[in-house]
This record gives sequence, C-alpha cells and structure tokens, in this order.
Amino acid sequence: MLATVIHAARDIRVEEVPDPELSTGADAIVRVVAACVCGSDLWPYRGVTKTEEPHRIGHEFVGIVEEVGPGVEVIKPGDFVIAPFYVCDGECANCRNGISTSCLSGGWWGSDDRLGGFADGGQGERIRVPLADGTLVVVPGPIGDDEVPGLLTLSDVMGTGHHAAISAGVGPGDSVAVVGDGAVGLCAIIAAKRLGATTIIAMSRHPQRQALAREFGAAHIVEERGDAGIARVQELTDGIGADCVLECVGTKESMDQALRSARPGGMVGYVGVPNGGPELPIRSMFGRNVGVNGGVAPVRSYIEELLPDVRSGAIRPGLVFDLELPLAEAAEAYAAMDERRATKVLLRP
Ligand SMILES: [Zn+2]
Ligand SMILES: [Zn+2]
Repeated sequence: MLATVIHAARDIRVEEVPDPELSTGADAIVRVVAACVCGSDLWPYRGVTKTEEPHRIGHEFVGIVEEVGPGVEVIKPGDFVIAPFYVCDGECANCRNGISTSCLSGGWWGSDDRLGGFADGGQGERIRVPLADGTLVVVPGPIGDDEVPGLLTLSDVMGTGHHAAISAGVGPGDSVAVVGDGAVGLCAIIAAKRLGATTIIAMSRHPQRQALAREFGAAHIVEERGDAGIARVQELTDGIGADCVLECVGTKESMDQALRSARPGGMVGYVGVPNGGPELPIRSMFGRNVGVNGGVAPVRSYIEELLPDVRSGAIRPGLVFDLELPLAEAAEAYAAMDERRATKVLLRP
C-alpha cells in the first residue's frame, strides 16, 4: 500500500510500504477515507525538529474499519470511524480523568505501540490501530461525502481549539482574543462562540483567514502585533484586555502576545505546540493575576461532545480545509501549507 514518508526536511515522499497486519488482538485495520496535514507536521518539514531517519508521518484521519482483532468488542468491520491524533485505551486513570493524551498504555501514529505492533502514520491508505476500542469513535451512518471534512477536524484541530477554550474557562458573556489564524486558531473561534463568548477578537493578518474568522463568529479582527496589537485588544475590551485568550501558535512571540492581551485576572488557554522556547514571565503574571492553563489537547475525550454539533451543521469546522489533493500529492500539500497558500490540506487516498 501507499503511505507518506518523511525522509528529511522538505523531502516528503508517498511510497510503497508493507500492508498493515493485526497483531495484538485489540487492534483494527482501517482503510483511510481522508487524512490531512497538520501545522505540527510542518515542524519536521521545515527542519525545526530533526528527521534522523525516514519515518511515516501524519496523525489525523477518518476511515472505514476493514478488520478487527479477536479482543475488539465495540468497533466492527464496516464502521466509519474518527481517529484522534494519538492512541489511547479509554480505561486507565488518565483517560478517566479526561487527559487521554497521557494514557498509560497510549502511543502515537507512525511508531511502535507498547506491545511491539506498528501504528501506521495517518497519511496512508490503510492503518493498523492499536487499542481500537479506546482510540476510535464510531460515527453512525450513512455518512455523506460532504460530512467528511468536518468529521476529520475532530481528529485534531476542532478538539484542540475546543481545549484552548475549555482551558481558558470560556463561558457565556466572555470576551475572547484568539492568537493564531491557522486551522486551530479558527476552530478556537468556533469553540469560543459555541461556549457562549460574546466578544471574539481574532488576531490575523491574512485576508482569507480573516473572512473565515468572521464567518465562525469573530466580531473583530486585529492585524497589529506586539504593543500595538495589545492596545487594540484593550480598546475592544473596556480598556483592560480580554477575559480569556486562546494561544494557538506556540512561539515565544505568540505566548507573549497572549499573556499581555489578557485582562488582569484573565486566563490564557494554550494549545500551540511550544517551539522556540516560550517561557512564562511569572513576575508579570503575578502582578496581573494572569493564569495559564492548557497543553496537548486530549481530543479523544471531546469527540462525543462535539460530534452532534458537527453532524447537525451547528458548527462547520470543515471549512478550514481550503485545498484537497490526492494522497499521491502529499508533498505538494506540505509545500502549500508551508508557503501559506493553504490553511489546511485534506488528502484522499
Ligand atoms: Zn495535528
Ligand atoms: Zn488510558
């Protein structure tokens, strides 16, 4: 079968790899209906994180179950399933606490699981899913083809935007500033609106993303950065800053922007994968009573909650996909996102 392999920075190839095989009894084989490229896939693509040897890549997919191991009880062949961006059992103490990203028997796509089976990368034709019952969420059919992009966002970006909003404690009547206009930032706007925020400010300089931010519920767009950006956020929030700030980038600059855009007593929810070493200025946070909460989003724990709103069309996160390519053109998908010609690219095997 074909799967995407990263060989080095800017060297993405779709190549022939061994077909996945059931090996542990608790696993399933899923035929991928759609996968996509994540902003975090761009870190190895750009060489920010080193690729020591070629490896499979991709961690967001939806598909149809083809086979299940003898120990699988919930998932059945023929089911349409959503996979979160990690593997989890759904049963351990961390999963029960809703932090399934820290599952005690969990793992990541494109690497060996804890029993020695291989969890294929998400950007391929078929995938072996360890711990199928804990990891996968069944979407009852029939599934319209136009539903696929929205369902695919529950693999990562919609749940991650939601986690930013939950972590910041967004509730009815809040003012919310969103730092970052990538797919996660745009989904964070959806999440903030869904949780009842009344004033949503999107920090974006990109015209198409600004339009989508408005469609998702942002009343204001702030193009300025740094001190000027903070001044604009304050102007829009009674001169004090936002109740909640959602940090969806992960750089030193974006974290600084987020912390200083929060009002005294405000909270920053952060979900951007930290790169370039953002560090928290505890002294100024102390002085202003600004809190920080968040981390890698336990999206599996949110899928059941968000799924009905995606299926009903109450929220439309699938609009973040602005380019669709065949899997064979995965290299072009990475290039398009790297060059910001696309916000997020959907791949069809
Ligand atoms: Zn992702
Ligand atoms: Zn667990």
